[in-house]
Amino acid sequence: MHRKLVAANWKMHGSNALTATLLGTLAAQPPACEVAVFPPFPYLAQAVHLARGAVGIGAQDLSAHAQGAYTGEVSGAMLHEIGARWVLVGHSERRQYHHENDALIAAKLQRAMECGLTPVLCVGETLDERERGITESVIATQMQAPLHLLGERFAGVVMAYEPVWAIGTGRTASAVQAQAVHAFMRSQLAAHDAKLSRLIRLLYGGSVKAANAPELFAQPDIDGGLVGGASLLAEEFLAICAAAH
Ligand code: PEP
Repeated sequence: MHRKLVAANWKMHGSNALTATLLGTLAAQPPACEVAVFPPFPYLAQAVHLARGAVGIGAQDLSAHAQGAYTGEVSGAMLHEIGARWVLVGHSERRQYHHENDALIAAKLQRAMECGLTPVLCVGETLDERERGITESVIATQMQAPLHLLGERFAGVVMAYEPVWAIGTGRTASAVQAQAVHAFMRSQLAAHDAKLSRLIRLLYGGSVKAANAPELFAQPDIDGGLVGGASLLAEEFLAICAAAH
């Protein structure tokens, strides 16, 4: 059984004051589970300083390039240098609004690992895809390029299943729906390499709250959560972490 991990994706929310409040609370009351917090870029250094090692800090994206003339991009080496140890890769909002495809996402994963960052690879289907009954083939396709490119190194990746229809909508996948997709993801990993399916932590994300976290985290193939909106509320987030034991 894996140690549970709860990740906080602040998206494009926050301020110096909110960073101080949320990281101050987490550093003062460190949860029993592992926690990784993903603030926007400008607050990363402050978050690393305030976390005092009690929780991990990560970025919401990184460049696929090592360095160079890529205006607006942030490299994995820069993130590592300022103390970030995690990075989200392939969040559905990056896929949707920044047109990130599976090949680019695989390249970002590879770059993250070269730079000593643990990537959280996000996958998930849209409502239309779920209604058309193609959830499993969508997830399998999203996993294919990263698995192929990284091979055994994929063991260093954390995955998050985030049904797009459940992100920020208040509509959570039921524990049964989430467990079914997580079990499918594990079977895909096992088909690639039996070791991978045992090693990799699979998080669920999509309107996780203190009220639904216990049932979701009790599922056999759910190793924690990726939390958006509710991670901006200190008490709510601590309650979600408390459900991850
Ligand atoms: C997310 O941003 O990854 C997410 C799951 O958001 P929310 O919890 O708000 O649905």
